[in-house]
Amino acid sequence: MRSDRNRSNGVRAREQTYLRSIAASLLGKLVTTATPQATPQRDSSLLVPYVTAWSAEESPTATDLVALPGNCGIAYRNEIAGDRDERGILLARARNARGHGKPRFGAVHAARQRHAMRNLLCQVCGTTADTNDEGTLWLLQDHRTDWPDWPNRMGCTEPPVCAGCATLSIRSCPALRKTHALVRVGHAPLAGVHGTLWVRSPIGALKSSHSVLVRFDDPLLPWVLASHLVRELQQTTLLT
Ligand SMILES: [Zn+2]
Repeated sequence: MRSDRNRSNGVRAREQTYLRSIAASLLGKLVTTATPQATPQRDSSLLVPYVTAWSAEESPTATDLVALPGNCGIAYRNEIAGDRDERGILLARARNARGHGKPRFGAVHAARQRHAMRNLLCQVCGTTADTNDEGTLWLLQDHRTDWPDWPNRMGCTEPPVCAGCATLSIRSCPALRKTHALVRVGHAPLAGVHGTLWVRSPIGALKSSHSVLVRFDDPLLPWVLASHLVRELQQTTLLT
């Protein structure tokens, strides 16, 4: 696993050149579509990341959950097919109205995040994320001082990216321009979920507690309303 980190400079140089070439073509598309003749709605929807939530998608504040018989987890009072995934995990409901209202930058749409993460789609444009023999491309906030081979073994809620969107994001986002890590990930199994832990109060009422990131084998899982899928990044190679 560590050997992946000792790739030659030649490979890295080819990769960076590839990123630049893809970015140039995507940038051209964005400039072409963002003309004064286009409607404001179309302009903004093209520039808003795929996983970003829109104001028309805001969920009702009250989530009607109940404890399952035997006090073994939570369920929707009016649960329907599709409220749980194939593992039986209860999923946060998310209205789908992408492109309607205003983008809520910083808010991630739960269903689109799960769709992108499950299918390894680019979190920005929603197309297939960039993958080569060395793995899939991820753009992360830089925390490489956290542990020696960071981000290896990190649980990640951010879906991957395509090459063009990676470069465009670095150019257009002040935080990423200042510091980022572009990473190839050789293996990224689905490992858990991120969501809200629900607990029972002393009088037995259900209430939301706090955000948690739990693995699929965590005993707390039946008490989590899952918003996002988590992949564990393995066999990672830092590109920049
Ligand atoms: Zn993309």
